[in-house]
Amino acid sequence: MVDIPPPSTASARSTDPGSFDDDERRGDDTIRPDRLEEFIGQQQVTDNLRVYIEAARRRREALDHILLSGMPGLGKTTLASLVAHEMGTGFRATSGPVLEKAKDLVGLLTELEAGDVLFIDEVHRLSRVVEEYLYTAMEDFQIDILIDSGPNARSVRIDLPRFTLVAATTREGNLTAPFRARFGIQEKLEPYGVEDMRSILGRSARIFGIELDEEGALTLARRCRGTPRIANRYLRRVRDFAESSGVGRIDRRAAEDALARLGVDSLGLDTLDRRILEVVGAHQGEPVGVKTIAVSVGEEERTIEDVYEPYLIQRGYLSKTPRGRTLGPRADEIPGLERPAPPTPEVTDPGLFEGEASG
Ligand code: ADP
Repeated sequence: MVDIPPPSTASARSTDPGSFDDDERRGDDTIRPDRLEEFIGQQQVTDNLRVYIEAARRRREALDHILLSGMPGLGKTTLASLVAHEMGTGFRATSGPVLEKAKDLVGLLTELEAGDVLFIDEVHRLSRVVEEYLYTAMEDFQIDILIDSGPNARSVRIDLPRFTLVAATTREGNLTAPFRARFGIQEKLEPYGVEDMRSILGRSARIFGIELDEEGALTLARRCRGTPRIANRYLRRVRDFAESSGVGRIDRRAAEDALARLGVDSLGLDTLDRRILEVVGAHQGEPVGVKTIAVSVGEEERTIEDVYEPYLIQRGYLSKTPRGRTLGPRADEIPGLERPAPPTPEVTDPGLFEGEASG
């Protein structure tokens, strides 16, 4: 099994589900559901997968290739390993940025056994060469490898066992059409509703041995951006704060205090979310490019686009236009968001306003 390396942009932000340290990764692994029925929410996705898995098992065939898309921390890796578990096959994981050259893929592919799941996280970051190399592996279960070098170099075609590629992406739109077309199954994960988040938190609390009451769970569930990884992270931090102040049971008060200390507001937005919105708001309706936002808030463009924007857009706090970002229709609901009033236009050309002045 190839370990998934930590993302290079890792920064320990409270709401950034794309950044997580080793400790958290181990934590992720401990509480990862390993049966489909333990996976909470995403009903349509799990119902579909269940049907495909049963059908493939009945036919004793490998499952079709699967593309899972959705924001970081929603359960794509978990589902990929669940698929392998339910199929009773092996699971190997890697990620797009790690596979720099086609030869990085050869080792993985040739070690697969029939029916195994090969999981590629962040598949939108695969190089074009590797992506194209995958095409024949996915379609014909064959690859060409180059043996020898110089004048003796020759290409040999080798057969692969029928495997299932499960690819995960936070940016489905960045995949080329021919690549996307090679996935027989495509499922999109959406942020979880409050009820599902409450169940996920309840399950995690039981596993961690944390006493979390109904109100405490509801408080966390409402502010975790519908993302299990964030919910589990908050749960651990809330436990730390509660323990250090001698509180055994996590109730609403304990949850609220801890979230306030993490800089998470009543809508679940953290400092960086708010700064992004403030930068956009300061442009008084003029669309702002992601580059400008990234420089202004001191974060990488990729993180802004992959991690922060999707949620802000989904909630209607931010809008994406072809010319840049503007505040969304629900930005007014954000308490305390600094939105400087538009300046009174300087009248440089009196002629411009003549009609209005006389009307
Ligand atoms: P992704 O691959 O989409 O970034 P992961 O699969 O790594 O997300 O999930 C992050 C964490 O959230 C894991 O610890 C996982 O156990 C937990 N998790 C995700 N989805 C669920 C779910 N539906 N039910 C319970 N726990 C979940």
